[in-house]
Amino acid sequence: MKGWQLADVGFNYDVVAVFGSQSTGKSTLLNRLFGTKFDVMSETERRQTTKGIWMSKGKDMPVLVMDVEGTDGRERGEDQDFERKSALFSMAVAEVLLVNIWEHQVGLYQGANMGLLKTVFEVNLGLFLAAKQKGKARGDSQDKTLLLFVIRDHIGATPLANLRATLTADLNRLWDGLSKPEGLESSRIDDFFDLDFVTLPHKLLQPELFEEQVADLRKRFSTGAGSGAGAGAGGSSVFQSKYHKRIPADGISTYMGTIWDAVVSNKDLDLPTQQELLAQFRCGELAAAAFATFSALVAAFPPALPAGQVDSSLGARMAEAKQAALAAYDAAASRYHPAVYARQRAELATKVHGALLPLFATQLKSLHKGTLRAFRVEVEDALRGDGYDFARVVRDARTRAEGTFEEEAARVVLEESGWSAEEERVALGEDMDSVAELLRKEETRKMVAVIERNIKRQMAETVELALDSPSADMWDKVLSAFKAALAKAEEAYVRKATSFNCTDDEVKAALSLLRRRAWIALRSKLDEQTAEAALLNKLRLVFEDKFRYDADGVPRVWKPEDDIDTIFRKAKDSVLELIPLYAHIKPSNEANAFELPSESSSSSSSMGTSGLVDPAAAAADDEFDFAQSLQLLTPSAQASLSARFRRETDAYYTEAKRSMVSSTAQ
Ligand code: GDP
Ligand code: MG
Repeated sequence: MKGWQLADVGFNYDVVAVFGSQSTGKSTLLNRLFGTKFDVMSETERRQTTKGIWMSKGKDMPVLVMDVEGTDGRERGEDQDFERKSALFSMAVAEVLLVNIWEHQVGLYQGANMGLLKTVFEVNLGLFLAAKQKGKARGDSQDKTLLLFVIRDHIGATPLANLRATLTADLNRLWDGLSKPEGLESSRIDDFFDLDFVTLPHKLLQPELFEEQVADLRKRFSTGAGSGAGAGAGGSSVFQSKYHKRIPADGISTYMGTIWDAVVSNKDLDLPTQQELLAQFRCGELAAAAFATFSALVAAFPPALPAGQVDSSLGARMAEAKQAALAAYDAAASRYHPAVYARQRAELATKVHGALLPLFATQLKSLHKGTLRAFRVEVEDALRGDGYDFARVVRDARTRAEGTFEEEAARVVLEESGWSAEEERVALGEDMDSVAELLRKEETRKMVAVIERNIKRQMAETVELALDSPSADMWDKVLSAFKAALAKAEEAYVRKATSFNCTDDEVKAALSLLRRRAWIALRSKLDEQTAEAALLNKLRLVFEDKFRYDADGVPRVWKPEDDIDTIFRKAKDSVLELIPLYAHIKPSNEANAFELPSESSSSSSSMGTSGLVDPAAAAADDEFDFAQSLQLLTPSAQASLSARFRRETDAYYTEAKRSMVSSTAQ
């Protein structure tokens, strides 16, 4: 079939065979009708030349021509069996069977091979036609076979019409006499066969007329293969679509092989089933070939990009490879049994999709990763700038990321693959949410840290000033300054927090944290200022002020009349009185008091989940007790301080006494 360029013609070919006695000019006729070169017995030898069944291709016509060994068995001895089989085979596979008979044999039951024809009809009916009938009941297309009787050596005395009537009557009689399978008892010959008749003059006696009429007959075979349309001169085209067996050209060898097997083994052959089997076989082969083509294309894909890098052309390449596979399959397989063709096509598509699925999945993962990274970079870049609106920055970056994802995902979701990027899309959305959340918390944390630092800086000077010159309203000054700074910080925070899409709870938590950390910052400044050495220094300065300088701030020069003892005691006592003032943060005016709720561990762990505090700080906060934080010096610290202070002042007293003695001595 390949050599004849018929393998790819689909249904566009026809099959014709010949049936008839030995040496009745069958090969001669075929050669003239189809331009074939079957062996012809030389005029002088009269010896059988054709052995078995020969097949050739019509010259310049897509016709398979089968020349069948003679049917009278004269030269094959008693091997009638082969003749029966070859006739049966021809009848099953050919669209048109040329039945070659001499004119003088018409009406002679034996001579016209009617005996063999009867047997062949009978077996044919059992083997194939009954099955065909079942197929017809199932709605399968019904094909008939054309029996074209070629009456040779027609002298012309009996007109064709009479010969036709005689032969038709003979055939009907023969059909009636057949033993028919169940269900086909009332069938008629024209249920399965169309009958047609032509005559040809004697080749040797009327050679010119013979050639002329053969040429006319040839025209009836040369109209389009399988078309059934149009008619050549001298009658309608013999190749009509109703005769076509609907076996695609590339499956014909398999098909004929199976028919031959059935003929040889004389087994029932369910033709429609046979067509399905053939379709399964051929479609399977075609699908495998198509898949191989596809695999080769996929193997030639450029190497995959590193994870996170999206290959925008992958989808097109996958679609192309898939299309190539299906097109290759469709080209040949679409001619086979429609249901089988469709089923195997779906299987092929499934297999192709299965092979491409890992590429699809990897691409989606990369897309997810790459998009998420781009999203993060975009948000982080924006956060590096000034005056950004966090919520908007995130929203814009997200819209862009989603757009990229949709666009790239659409490229790789192949049609009818049943694939979906939905799961990955949702996962990406969640990842972007958590990245945004993380960045937001980090930003909030940074903001709180900046605010906290500002408060600390602002408070440092106020605290030092206030504590260096202690007075009754010392804490009023510290606390009111602290409260003012805190109020400003809170305002700054709230202003920024709105752009961070913070929930009310989160704002509340952040503010509470801010307050606490500000307070702790203040406390640490106060701790530093009230550490024993620092405080001792402050007390010493206050004492010196009172003891070594007079009311006008002029350094005293001790004179004998000065009451050193009283001045010393007064100064010392007034300074000692300051220790309890330093010991507790306690404003003189209640209105200046500052208060924080003391946090228990459980409520401070909810602070922890807000993500604003690092775990260490959260743990430290666990022990936070506001009331306790108001105490700067414990009673024992106060006692120790006052003891050290007394010791130091004793030195001042001794020194003053000594200086007075020395001035007196002068
Ligand atoms: P086949 O055995 O049926 O294939 O017959 P062949 O084609 O080999 O021809 C057998 C012999 O019959 C040859 O010598 C042919 O020349 C001769 N022959 C062919 N056509 C005709 C015909 O129409 N009439 C007669 N009488 N002889 C023919
Ligand atoms: Mg021959």
